[in-house]
Amino acid sequence: MLSKNALYVVATPIGNLNDISLRALDILAKVDVVAAEHTQVSGHLFAAHSISTRLISLHQHNEAIVSNKILALLNSGKNVALVTDAGTPGISDPGAILVQRIRAHGYSIIPIPGANAAICALSASGITDPHFLFYGFLPTKTGLRKRALIELKPQRCTLIFYEAPHRILECIIDMMEVYGTQRDLTIARELTKLFETIHKGTLEEVYSWLQGDSNQQKGEFVLMLSGAKTMDKSEISEQAQHTLKCLLLELPLKQAVKLTTEITGENKNSLYQLALALKTAGYPE
Ligand code: SAM
Repeated sequence: MLSKNALYVVATPIGNLNDISLRALDILAKVDVVAAEHTQVSGHLFAAHSISTRLISLHQHNEAIVSNKILALLNSGKNVALVTDAGTPGISDPGAILVQRIRAHGYSIIPIPGANAAICALSASGITDPHFLFYGFLPTKTGLRKRALIELKPQRCTLIFYEAPHRILECIIDMMEVYGTQRDLTIARELTKLFETIHKGTLEEVYSWLQGDSNQQKGEFVLMLSGAKTMDKSEISEQAQHTLKCLLLELPLKQAVKLTTEITGENKNSLYQLALALKTAGYPE
């Protein structure tokens, strides 16, 4: 039996269409209306599970307006479910505004748990640190992204990010610039899908691995970065980074790295990897 006048917040799969609970399927089949981020994507899920409930669209750009419509549905005694394209609504996805609005009007909000990319990735990462900070998406522009990374720098727990494939390399370059090259990074790619890959290494190792295989740069990513305490010694200082950048303006890469090593006493290999990353990113043009 479904609750009357309730909003069900239903987690859906992050890839494999079978990763959905029996309870979620039951609710999606029985509610009056399902609000979906993209009705076509949810239609695909519904078809796979023979669900024919009416879908309406609720996304980032219409959430406030559609929230009123859903409120009116609940007012008239209907039940509504909320889903997004993948995973748990409201987690780097639309949903929070709707839930806030419905809650303010005193209706029941019932979460139906299920897939979430960050938790799925963490569960298979082998990271033993029991603490983590889920950040979601970093800013898309490098300046703002670095600023966000700098703010996170003192955090000692594992940092979890979502990232798009076309920004994965530049994001790791920014991480190396801010944190040095030696923090551990675990990448979980295409979870629950055909090309699911979980790969772990230092930032510089993972960067080289990704760069060496363009196939690994495709798909959806969760990045799990070790916290501050494991990397203090191996961090490249701001001064060394600055020196390297100045020398790269004037000298070939190897010479710039050699001189920076002599001037700053930093680890040569780390500086070399950073120089390579900078070159790949188009520096100094
Ligand atoms: N609400 C979702 C959740 O609960 O995880 C997240 C939605 S967010 C718009 C989409 C991002 O989640 C992707 O860009 C990627 O970073 C991550 N993601 C989603 N599915 C994934 C998968 N199958 N494998 C790895 N990362 C995934």
